[in-house]
Amino acid sequence: MASKKTIRCSFCGRTEEQAGGLIQGVDSYICPDCVEQAYQLVQNIHAVSGEKSTFHSPDFALHKPKEIKDFLDQYVIGQDDAKRTLAVAVYNHYKRINQKVQDDEVEIEKSNMILVGETGTGKTLLARTIAKMLNVPFAIADATVLTEAGYVGEDVENILVKLLQAANYDVKAAEHGIVFIDELDKIARKSDNPSITRDVSGEGVQQALLKLLEGTISNVPPQGGRKHPEQKMIAINTKDILFIAGGAFDGIERIIAARKSTNVIGYSTGTDKEIDKSNMLKYIAPADLKKFGLIPEIVGRMPIITYLNPLDATALKRILTEPKNALVKQFTKLFAMDGIQLIIDDEVLDFVVQKAIEFKLGARGLRSIMESILNDAMFEMPSENKTGKLHIDKAYAEEKISKDKKLAQ
Ligand code: ADP
Repeated sequence: MASKKTIRCSFCGRTEEQAGGLIQGVDSYICPDCVEQAYQLVQNIHAVSGEKSTFHSPDFALHKPKEIKDFLDQYVIGQDDAKRTLAVAVYNHYKRINQKVQDDEVEIEKSNMILVGETGTGKTLLARTIAKMLNVPFAIADATVLTEAGYVGEDVENILVKLLQAANYDVKAAEHGIVFIDELDKIARKSDNPSITRDVSGEGVQQALLKLLEGTISNVPPQGGRKHPEQKMIAINTKDILFIAGGAFDGIERIIAARKSTNVIGYSTGTDKEIDKSNMLKYIAPADLKKFGLIPEIVGRMPIITYLNPLDATALKRILTEPKNALVKQFTKLFAMDGIQLIIDDEVLDFVVQKAIEFKLGARGLRSIMESILNDAMFEMPSENKTGKLHIDKAYAEEKISKDKKLAQ
């Protein structure tokens, strides 16, 4: 037998062969599996202590409302009222967090808010952009999949798991993050009179959500899913988490109109002379949301309400070109990386907008229409290794769209 000493992993004791290789230290060895386990361990320690975070500490510099609005303007087209309201709410929210409360001081309440507006008008984008500006963790939760604990679906607390994951398990950062709850309108109960219609699921979810909005210490399973007894939980305090909810609230115009004793179709009753009927949402008030089916406690905990305007052709065209990461800028950059200068005629942009409206896709559709116009070129040009110009005119765009089976249905 050869006298060569068998080297082993100093942690698990396996030989080099068994472990599939060893990494040598000064006078010890470690195998790949033990490296991985050690890495997991370190991650868990960070998860609990909140170390190594790239997020701001709670007393980050406050951004003034005007600064917030200016930042939003770079990414979101129009929606001025929503931006102003959001800017003030966010400013006050973080001012409140920074406030060191003395016993005799006025305690400032949280500024959770509700954004009401058609789908694809920029509600999520606004919330996401705010989080980006503040460099705080951001999570999106879809209210339609939430259920009361014990039912099939996602527990409301899973919202916090998402936030924790967005915060790379930095609990402190998560506790100052922003949660966007999409489709809040879908958990409205069917009537605002609880004694007539007991729509248990909607109301139950609202009740569960209420706890998070009010501020509670919630124990969440770090990986999400259902809680089970032997699992290690992470405690998250929701008191300083900013909740922004969005929803289309289809039909709420009628409720607003009825409250303002006017007719949506356009009859003037003499009392509504000042009312701009082009977007009744601008008159939205807490009472309308209650009537729509949100429980009063939820409306009370989301005291700031604002609205978004539907996007017309002019706004859609601006969305294509103006925001900092506008689609046209993105495609131009992609082609430039292959040495190709992309030139898109103005008429093409009008055509894209017109198709987005025609297909009822709104702003969300702009991307798929642009993709469908440019996909062949993006497929072929890189292999051709040609540099130069790609000029997209209306005829080219029309031809590509007419061939797109997804859009042609
Ligand atoms: P929703 O109101 O349904 O939350 P989103 O914010 O998700 O809509 O918008 C969908 C997409 O449409 C966004 O990712 C963005 O590209 C675009 N978009 C919508 N509204 C605007 C807007 N006002 N300004 C710029 N882009 C917008």
